[in-house]
Amino acid sequence: DIIAHSPAALAIRALEKSGYQAWIVGGWVRDTLMGRMPHDADIATNAPWEHTKRIMCGAGYAVHETGVKHGTVTAIVSGEPIEITTYRIEGPYSDSRHPDYVEFVDSIELDLARRDFTMNAIAFHPTRGIFDPFDGASDIEARTIRAVGDARKRFEEDPLRILRAARFEAQTGFEIEPATRDAAFSCAHLLDSVARERTGSELTKLLCGPYAGRVIENEFPIVVQAINELKVARGFKLKSKRHAYDLLGHLAHSVSAAPENEALRWAALLHDIAKPESNHDHAQRSSTTATRIMQRLRIGRQQTQQAADAIAWHTTSFPPSEEALRLFVACLGGDVPRARRALLLQRADASGHGPKGDAREKEVDEELAMLDALECSGKPLGAKQLALSGREVADLGNLHGSEIGRTLDALLAAVVEGEVENTPEALRSHLNFAIENAEEQI
Ligand code: ATP
Ligand code: MG
Repeated sequence: DIIAHSPAALAIRALEKSGYQAWIVGGWVRDTLMGRMPHDADIATNAPWEHTKRIMCGAGYAVHETGVKHGTVTAIVSGEPIEITTYRIEGPYSDSRHPDYVEFVDSIELDLARRDFTMNAIAFHPTRGIFDPFDGASDIEARTIRAVGDARKRFEEDPLRILRAARFEAQTGFEIEPATRDAAFSCAHLLDSVARERTGSELTKLLCGPYAGRVIENEFPIVVQAINELKVARGFKLKSKRHAYDLLGHLAHSVSAAPENEALRWAALLHDIAKPESNHDHAQRSSTTATRIMQRLRIGRQQTQQAADAIAWHTTSFPPSEEALRLFVACLGGDVPRARRALLLQRADASGHGPKGDAREKEVDEELAMLDALECSGKPLGAKQLALSGREVADLGNLHGSEIGRTLDALLAAVVEGEVENTPEALRSHLNFAIENAEEQI
């Protein structure tokens, strides 16, 4: 009943009133059969896109021409965007982004046959139910990811599908069916020809999946093809006694332990990537390498910057006291979310050592709890929260450029250490006193 009144069902009814067929297809059907919360319903129809547009407009919905070259328009139904695509088959992907051409066809079965995996090739109709010519529902039941048709041919057509197989494993915990997996491994080198932003976006989805750690180890030939820098991690023995795994195992376990947040999952994957070169200053060097990798894969600027920053700070530990934590936060510019990301990566790192990291994990948990408390306490954590602004400090001391920041940091340190109260009067007299002393010295 919920389905009968859903925006997708309304769109289907509008198309069918005009004499066309339409089905819900793709991820929505798969997720619903799996008992997962589905998102965006895609619709496939035999209506040409111009007709779809006319029909949906006529039914009173706003319509956008989002991909008419490939037969797609987007209708806004009850506030929800519904992608409606004409049944089609695809030509080769010579730019590795889009098929060179699409051919519109009249049968849903042909449209389903061009899809990547059987679990993604099921159609659903609000009154007629499931249409499943490739037995996707039994593969879902058996928790199997299986290519539609000849796996090797399908991977040669669009090698991104190789990475998508690993991505779906990371999201569902399903096994890739053996023939599909063999073909994926033997075609993995073809991933080099795929547009980097497509690779990057599948990798982010892979990393955020609940089974990402397992996939990084089990589907290593696929993952390493997309991120060559990981090659040295496999078999690299970590020296410290705390490590239960090789570097790859450690990275994989750290990913699984990190919160399902894009920046933190990327950070967990790459936090020790420079270790095999040398242990010296590896946090900073891993951070630089992570930036290079993430930029190459066109990962968002903010995620890249946050991941690189957390990596740069992941080895900075301090005694578990409030004072030490406040100094750490002050070093990070008083930016609490930034400090939290650094600590969450430290926690994932500790967790990535297996049971040997338990003690460190507990310590970081305490620090995280302390950070929450500190955030609520209203105590100044960074120069921004000082009772004097940068401008006032500059005017008072006749300061310029980097002198201002340095003075603010010194004032903050004085407040954190309890030498001076965080009020405008106290800070002003502290500053005046410091200036007079400095002049005497001159
Ligand atoms: P998500 O939940 O991440 O959106 P999805 O299955 O909907 O997963 P999309 O990338 O949105 O994935 O694609 C929608 C559908 O289009 C897929 O379910 C699949 O049927 C088909 N599809 C997408 N990409 C490909 C591809 N590269 N090759 C073949 N079929 C594809
Ligand atoms: Mg989708």
